[in-house]
Amino acid sequence: MATEKTDVVIVGVGATGGILAAELAKAGMKVIGLERGPRHKTADFAAQDELRYFQRQDLRPDPKRQPVTWRPNANTRAVPMAPLNYGNQVGGGTVHYGAVSWRFHESDFRVRSQSIERYGASAIPEDCSVIDWPMSYADLEPYYDRVEYEIGVSGKAGNLKGRKIEGGNIFEAPRQREFPLPPLFVDNSARIFEAGARKLGYHPFPTPRAILSEPYKGRPACAYCGFCSTFGCHVGAKSSILVTTIPEADATGNFKLVTGAMCYRVNSDNSGRVTGVSYYGPDNSDNTIEAEIVILSPFIYDVVRLLLLSKTNRFPDGLANSNGHLGRHIMTHIGGRVFAAFDDRYVNMYMGPTAQKHTVDDFNGDNFDHGGLGFILGAQISVQGPGFDAGPIAASVGMPPPPGIPNWGKPYRDFIRKYFARHASINAQTDNLPFADQMIDLDPNVRDAWGLPAPRITYDWRRPNEQKGVAFIQEKLEQVGHAMGATHVWRAPLSQGAPGPHTQGGTRMGNDPRTSVVNRYSQSWDIPNLFIVGSSTHPSMSGFNPTLTIQALAYMSADAIVNRYRKNPGLLA
Ligand SMILES: Cc1cc2nc3c(=O)[nH]c(=O)nc-3n(C[C@H](O)[C@H](O)[C@H](O)COP(=O)(O)OP(=O)(O)OC[C@H]3O[C@@H](n4cnc5c(N)ncnc54)[C@H](O)[C@@H]3O)c2cc1C
Repeated sequence: MATEKTDVVIVGVGATGGILAAELAKAGMKVIGLERGPRHKTADFAAQDELRYFQRQDLRPDPKRQPVTWRPNANTRAVPMAPLNYGNQVGGGTVHYGAVSWRFHESDFRVRSQSIERYGASAIPEDCSVIDWPMSYADLEPYYDRVEYEIGVSGKAGNLKGRKIEGGNIFEAPRQREFPLPPLFVDNSARIFEAGARKLGYHPFPTPRAILSEPYKGRPACAYCGFCSTFGCHVGAKSSILVTTIPEADATGNFKLVTGAMCYRVNSDNSGRVTGVSYYGPDNSDNTIEAEIVILSPFIYDVVRLLLLSKTNRFPDGLANSNGHLGRHIMTHIGGRVFAAFDDRYVNMYMGPTAQKHTVDDFNGDNFDHGGLGFILGAQISVQGPGFDAGPIAASVGMPPPPGIPNWGKPYRDFIRKYFARHASINAQTDNLPFADQMIDLDPNVRDAWGLPAPRITYDWRRPNEQKGVAFIQEKLEQVGHAMGATHVWRAPLSQGAPGPHTQGGTRMGNDPRTSVVNRYSQSWDIPNLFIVGSSTHPSMSGFNPTLTIQALAYMSADAIVNRYRKNPGLLA
């Protein structure tokens, strides 16, 4: 068994771990990053292999080696989920994500208080466990700004220091300055969507994306190839952690990256501190790293599992779990999708970055009056490629035909032939409230390739608040489709809502150590030299994608570690 010593060990070098690695190494700390997957190069993605990256989803964890199981409730036996697409390489999910990069709304940080103030206490479902974030949007704003400028995000401001700007998202929270880069080119689907949404009185705008619209920091602009979500970028225009902060960490000389390293335990001593981690190397060697600070950023399924696997006599229920909240209050985007097909025009959805090309935010969060609707929260509405993650040739795969057309044989072929280039998909990511019994624990029946119990998810989105919200948003999606002038408008079947790469919660942050796992700096209440960073810390979610927020939180944690914790180790106030 090999043992190494360092200042900081980071488990999982993805969207958040890669930021912490760069920031702490730049501050002179010796950092070791453990990543279970490989390190790719931009050149590796030159082939744009749809079979490999879209059909076989080569950049996600192998479900046979790394299963995650799911059951709708505690009375059911969990089964391995359909392959779950999340991070599994240096850069994590950002290598193959859609790069849509949202700041959350001001109200997203205070869902509980704001809903009670505006609609009364009965607006929150009785068994819902939502708490406010231990920070406001204004507290996080400097870090949102930081990540947008560090990695390069393209977009148009809709609210500059409180001044609303048409053409940007007028519902966004105030930002202090413009995006570092102008929006990406608007394609035909976005133009048609924009016109339809404006007819209905909504406020469409180009979606902010961590994809370069112009050359930035030595990287080239987007080539609009369409091989985007689920693919690595073949020119390095996607601002993934692989091409942004990892090279910065390398340049310090203080960062050591170990790939093929599967962390299986966080080690602790009887003083109540963590002492480091143990991991299996690619050659199955068993290794230990001793560190002053342990940072866990392996995404939520693995972070909960690791903490539960690390139980000791002193921490019999797992680390950071003295109050029983570890693994609980998970949430995910539910969805809602409508297709619009046109007899009289081409849409050419397969061109350009695929995810959420153009958006309206009128029905998201608390941007509209929910009085009398019977639900709180909502969703952004965007036009995008039909499969959430489709490349150009596979564009039709995610589109079930409209009612009356079978999904096989000649009628199906005729349908696809006619509408392949003449359809759009209008999507929503309806958000979901937290409940204590929506949770992750260890599966007693299923193990991974290393012999470790698989993470088991217990989750079912079909609660009254969520069902009403989804039904409301689906109607809006259809209205937009008709306003776009489509000949056919039809709904995609709703998913069963099983978790995916936008899952949040499980180690939530809060102001109260009795009801949360970490504080606002993502520091464990129980163990001050343990930081848990990522979307697992979100106490509530947003109708927006999570990654820019978790990256802003990573910069906030890095700042707190470098400028405060390092000088005075202990619980940060
Ligand atoms: C196809 C796809 C499209 C997406 N599109 C968007 C989008 O448009 N916008 C958006 O905001 N978000 C999007 N996401 C989600 C986004 O990728 C995640 O929010 C983000 O990557 C999470 O960051 P993280 O640091 O928590 O985890 P990750 O980025 O997943 O990084 C965690 C890393 O930890 C490693 N790891 C896990 N367990 C261990 C272990 N035990 N030992 C060692 N290493 C370990 C993993 O291999 C992984 O590389 C998308 C995700 C996918 C898969």
